[in-house]
Amino acid sequence: MATDYRRFFENIPTCPYCETELSVCEAPPVHVGDGLGWGSEVLYICLNDECKVFVNGWKQIEEQFGHNSSYRYMRIPGSNESNVMMVGTADAFKGSIIDLAEVESQNKRFQEEKAAVAQFDTAVADKNMAPLLRVLLDEAATLASRQRAVVLLKELNDIACVDAIRNHTFRNTGLGMEANNAASHVLERNFKKECPHCAEIIKARAIVCMHCKRDLA
Ligand SMILES: [Zn+2]
Ligand SMILES: [Zn+2]
Repeated sequence: MATDYRRFFENIPTCPYCETELSVCEAPPVHVGDGLGWGSEVLYICLNDECKVFVNGWKQIEEQFGHNSSYRYMRIPGSNESNVMMVGTADAFKGSIIDLAEVESQNKRFQEEKAAVAQFDTAVADKNMAPLLRVLLDEAATLASRQRAVVLLKELNDIACVDAIRNHTFRNTGLGMEANNAASHVLERNFKKECPHCAEIIKARAIVCMHCKRDLA
């Protein structure tokens, strides 16, 4: 799973120049200049356009280096050192702000996946289909767990999984195929089939669909 960013929101420093709380931003992959990483996946950056570091930076850089950039005050988490970083526009880093609500919701999803996977071992014996579908139909869940869910759903052999699988759009087409094959397998083993006209589940031997009344011969 991706980094748990929540800890970076616990003690967000403020900018010593403007007293604004710094923004929690994704660190760019490479430390421009020396080619090294930042040593942190996030950076705290003052994105206040009124901050004097930013306001005065344009003139300072123009005079010193002769190009059109400014500075943003920044801190690296875990370090007390103050830094500035050069930015070419006022919008730089505004698209990299990490949203705590988004982080919380990803974490919640991950916890739910973990809880569901923890029930996998007993799912077949307990005829407990819910955690299997929970993981299989979660596009953000890990592939290995989703593949395992397919195998277990096949073993569990309950046709209640069929519609859920058929109605889901799998971004991973290989996994989608495995899941749909498992659904077909479950239907067969329960002597059922899907009506080719209305897709309702009917008896494998039916010659007229009990739902749409159409002829299947
Ligand atoms: Zn500031
Ligand atoms: Zn039908």
